[in-house]
Amino acid sequence: MNKTSIYGLTSDQLTAWLTERGQKKFRAAQVWDWLYKKRVTDFSQMKNVNTECIALLEESFYIQSLKEEVVQKSEDGTIKFLFKLQDGNLIETVLMRFNYGLSVCVTTQVGCNIGCTFCASGLLKKNRDLSGGEIVEQIMNVQHHLDSMGKDERVSHIVVMGIGEPFDNYSNMMDFFRVINDQKGLSIGARHITVSTSGLANKIYDFADEDIQINLAVSLHAPNNELRTQIMKINRAYPLEKLMPAIDYYLEKTNRRITFEYILLKDVNDHKEEAIQLANLLSNKRHLSYVNLIPYNPVDEHNQYERSTKKAIVEFYETLLKRGINCGVRVEQGSDIDAACGQLRSKQIKKDKVTN
Ligand code: SAH
Ligand code: SF4
Repeated sequence: MNKTSIYGLTSDQLTAWLTERGQKKFRAAQVWDWLYKKRVTDFSQMKNVNTECIALLEESFYIQSLKEEVVQKSEDGTIKFLFKLQDGNLIETVLMRFNYGLSVCVTTQVGCNIGCTFCASGLLKKNRDLSGGEIVEQIMNVQHHLDSMGKDERVSHIVVMGIGEPFDNYSNMMDFFRVINDQKGLSIGARHITVSTSGLANKIYDFADEDIQINLAVSLHAPNNELRTQIMKINRAYPLEKLMPAIDYYLEKTNRRITFEYILLKDVNDHKEEAIQLANLLSNKRHLSYVNLIPYNPVDEHNQYERSTKKAIVEFYETLLKRGINCGVRVEQGSDIDAACGQLRSKQIKKDKVTN
């Protein structure tokens, strides 16, 4: 029988699964507590759970299906994990420390089909989607790592900004949210969770219709179609005239602020002209917009791009600000390790190819 990750089950699903197999309902609550409050890493450590129930769980589920391949620690406290999945695929997860808490950046797919021309994750085509359990397990693994350091630290924030396009793995992403949001479990509040999409307009409509308060970020990167298509192939399928109405629908439906991500590429999309175009594009939704300017993190394979100069970054920022657009420049985390999403994985795969 094929085992799956125990973390893929919501509390209701775990209860149903156990009761269908003759276990009492309170067992499910005990198991849930061992998983998410006491956070054991082996079913046999669930001391007040009967052996029959433990045997059932062991037979059907993994409690640790990810294997730590590489752990890189940065001087600023950022920790980057390269995990090996059961099928041998590699994924990345990053823990970042901020003054407001500990944030984990999770991966949703093995590779990415969107193929943005600046991104290390898109270098390798999508091999498969991650299951909801595999996404939850990334957080559990990081939390276990923190637990083992004995400092009583808790993961408090989640950004779905690792490898992959989360809206291309929509239902597993939603399962993941349900598990980590559970108040008797990790209890990570929806307002502390942000999901980033490259702009799959049809899924933005679906997301707007969900009754949840998770934050949405949209990777815009350019204020006009010509430039956006050059930087992100997905703009052919979802050009601005499809993307912007989806965003307007989301704003109207939820009244929640959207973050627009804008990666600054030297002499490509960082001129004053583009800043003015961007301000115009967002002018009618200024009150619900925040632009996050991201200094490009160089990727070896994308040597056509360079990071914008400090001067260009400041000018871009000030042009937006002058036009009433809320914005900020992303502060880099872990720049002394392979920080940009997908870099550690693509380097490891290259290394494996050389050594095999
Ligand atoms: N696929 C989703 C989420 C993952 S990418 C999306 O594209 O939104 C998350 C963010 O990482 C994106 O905004 C992207 O712009 C940023 N990113 C990717 N490669 C980068 C690089 N080389 N330097 C800086 N940011 C990068
Ligand atoms: Fe995929 Fe996001 Fe990278 Fe684009 S930026 S290739 S959508 S992971």
